[in-house]
Amino acid sequence: MEMTKMKEIKMVDLQGQYLRIKNEIDAAIQEVLMSTAFIQGPQVKFFAEDLAKYNHSAYVVPCANGTDALQIAMMALDLKKGDEVILPVHTYVATAEVIALLGLTPVFIDVEEKTFNIDPNQIKSKITSKTKALVPVHLYGQCADMEPILKIAHENNLYVIEDLAQALGADYAFSNGAIKRAGNMGIIGCTSFFPSKNLGCYGDGGAIFTNDPSLAEKMKMISTHGQKVKYQHDIVGINSRLDTLQAAILLVKLKYLDEYTRRRNEVADHYDKHLAGISFIELPFRASNSTHVFHQYTIKTKGIDRDRFKKYLQDKGVPSMIYYHIPLHLQKAYRQNGFGEGSFPVTEKLSKTVLSLPMHTEMTEDELSYICQIIKGYNA
Ligand SMILES: *Cc1c(COP(=O)(O)O)cnc(C)c1O
Repeated sequence: MEMTKMKEIKMVDLQGQYLRIKNEIDAAIQEVLMSTAFIQGPQVKFFAEDLAKYNHSAYVVPCANGTDALQIAMMALDLKKGDEVILPVHTYVATAEVIALLGLTPVFIDVEEKTFNIDPNQIKSKITSKTKALVPVHLYGQCADMEPILKIAHENNLYVIEDLAQALGADYAFSNGAIKRAGNMGIIGCTSFFPSKNLGCYGDGGAIFTNDPSLAEKMKMISTHGQKVKYQHDIVGINSRLDTLQAAILLVKLKYLDEYTRRRNEVADHYDKHLAGISFIELPFRASNSTHVFHQYTIKTKGIDRDRFKKYLQDKGVPSMIYYHIPLHLQKAYRQNGFGEGSFPVTEKLSKTVLSLPMHTEMTEDELSYICQIIKGYNA
């Protein structure tokens, strides 16, 4: 296939996705523009209600972005300076950032090589009398192994805050047959509507899930300057609202989320089928106890130079991304704990071997065939 005949392959195609629902989106935006209710317009409440239903959660508190969602959650739980919060070291910086910002101590844990998620077996040894919370991240779209995590949390009286920014809509199956949706297993769940997330808006956006009515109330207050009644500030809060325009866009897009997830799974199935058996890559592991919403389709290279392979793909018109290049414990801002090279071997290995392939709702069979053919053609 000639590259010139094909349009540029993208990691994500937000324009293509928009064009399919352009009429609905444009109308929703127009409605907000004409109403001028840019802050806390009715669409914010409607979206929160629809999202709560979608996620089987009792309450949704919309906010300005996923990072704020995590911060509001930690503020609502009254975590105090010096309290320790456990999180995986293989994650986006936001998870650690809010912990540090609130004067809490991030306690990193290595991940499982297979699932990329926090290794439950390594949690117990890191728990101290100061440990107050645990933040599992459902990375790339598959749930962390929540059953053992919740058990440890229960035994040690720890809050569980789920970071489901990459896994909205993923379901986890417990050994007793119960199935719970990401964001519903801990006391609080935090997600993001960053444009490239599975449910993305056209700017920044985020939301918090909980089944606890008093926490929902408190988090709503924190997100709006600590007020329940306007100009009456009962607690110290922040300014973190979801814009009405973004809520209006999300109201439309939420209706398509299951279809988007289905499409992402079709893309993943195609990759699985056509990339099977290639000696120099390992395909994503599918956990038997979690569905996958494929925020990313992340392979691991084996025995080859990942960066050279990435460059080869790039030269052939196949984009790819590395999540994440530098492990958090080796980032300047988070090195203070005395960790160095070798502290978290699995995460360090992953930082040198992971590669995320193009994954979005608008991918065509032609693009997929081309990508797979190019990968197969690599001279390892
Ligand atoms: C995107 C993301 C966040 C932060 O969301 P923002 O809306 O960008 O603030 C937090 N955690 C993870 C794992 C993410 O992928």
